[in-house]
Amino acid sequence: MPSYKYLIIGGGMTADAAVAGIREVDPNGSIGLISDENHPPYNRPPLSKGLWKGKLLETIFRQSSKENAQIHLGTKAETIDPQSKQVIDDQGQSYSYDKLLLATGGSPRKLPFGGDEVIYFRTLDDFQRLRPLAEGRSRFAMIGGGFIGSELASALCDQGQEVAMLFPENGIGSLLFPADLASFLNDYYRQKGVAVLAGELVSDIEQRGEEFALKMKSGREIVVDHVIAGIGILPNTSLAETAGIEVDNGIVVDKYLQTSQTDIFAAGDVANIYNPVLDIRQRVEHEDNALTGGQAAGRNMAGQATPYEHLSTFYSDLFDLGYEAVGELNPNLETVSDWQEPFRKGVVYYLDQGHLRGVLLWNIWDQVDSARRLITEPGPFTSENLKGRLPD
Ligand code: NAP
Repeated sequence: MPSYKYLIIGGGMTADAAVAGIREVDPNGSIGLISDENHPPYNRPPLSKGLWKGKLLETIFRQSSKENAQIHLGTKAETIDPQSKQVIDDQGQSYSYDKLLLATGGSPRKLPFGGDEVIYFRTLDDFQRLRPLAEGRSRFAMIGGGFIGSELASALCDQGQEVAMLFPENGIGSLLFPADLASFLNDYYRQKGVAVLAGELVSDIEQRGEEFALKMKSGREIVVDHVIAGIGILPNTSLAETAGIEVDNGIVVDKYLQTSQTDIFAAGDVANIYNPVLDIRQRVEHEDNALTGGQAAGRNMAGQATPYEHLSTFYSDLFDLGYEAVGELNPNLETVSDWQEPFRKGVVYYLDQGHLRGVLLWNIWDQVDSARRLITEPGPFTSENLKGRLPD
């Protein structure tokens, strides 16, 4: 039976960062990594960004796990026995561990229709399925107006594809941005050539020969060659649940990223973490949390107990617009927009009763640390005293 001092379940960015974190503290302890993907850990952001702009595929693979871990690819962990400290995979192989990390991430939420013809975009395999379809000129339906929807619609449109975006909200990125910015984005995408069908919920997908008809609740219908969906993810918690680990919107962890079972940790998209700055429990589904949290979990597993209190950031590119953001971007909060150039360059602050909860840096760069510092200030903040605070 393979026996590891550190065993990691999951083969994404969190897992790779955890290997790096372990190695900072323990130069020699054996590390095993079990991944159900067929590729070693790679950076996920380029799948919807850089790889569409000429970035080479071989540059996306990560190094730490390659150099320091025994990687078991195409392998799904099926059960954990916390008492005997063993994991059993889908081929019946057992692995023993001293410390275990669950970096199981999330799986795409799926529509109740459309079957395998819908490309749920999440992994390198999904990218490799989609990329050749964008070689000629085809009609794509992009379901979802969140991160995947907005980034892929822009990437496909830049490739000269005909793209229709459909989502139930009023505007692109409506779950993050104030209504006027989301509405601007609808117009901006339309100017770029994307058919933006806002407020439309797909109710069925019918295959007609080589084509697909998407039927919407409103009665509207469009016909396309390919259908992609980015309608959110669900955290992969079933393995933890069967091991009796506490789960509540993700795997519940303490400030050291340890689960309710001693010696079992969780990090990345799947972990439900208390953030002391925002004073909330949350799951964070972004690169910075995967890397920083994965590394912290690795260090903690190797015995260097350090609380994980990072206020993580995220970013995106939408055609030639781009942004970075910190904290809670909830458009239901009070928002204060401080535009240098309306909707092109500026800062949006998110406030809750005078407390600053989040900052959107729209085409403003190198201000993440300043935004983070501002969020930790007690305030009270108002639109008057916030305007002009960033960039500093
Ligand atoms: P997302 O950003 O949560 O967006 C999902 C979108 O789909 C929302 O607009 C949602 O609207 C909509 N939706 C949900 N059910 C729908 C339905 N039945 N029909 C049509 N639309 C529906 O999720 P995502 O774009 O799928 O991204 C997946 C994950 O990858 C996320 O965890 C995201 O954070 C991560 N990611 C991050 C980045 C980045 O940080 N730049 C880039 C790519 C991906 P409602 O909620 O109103 O239903």
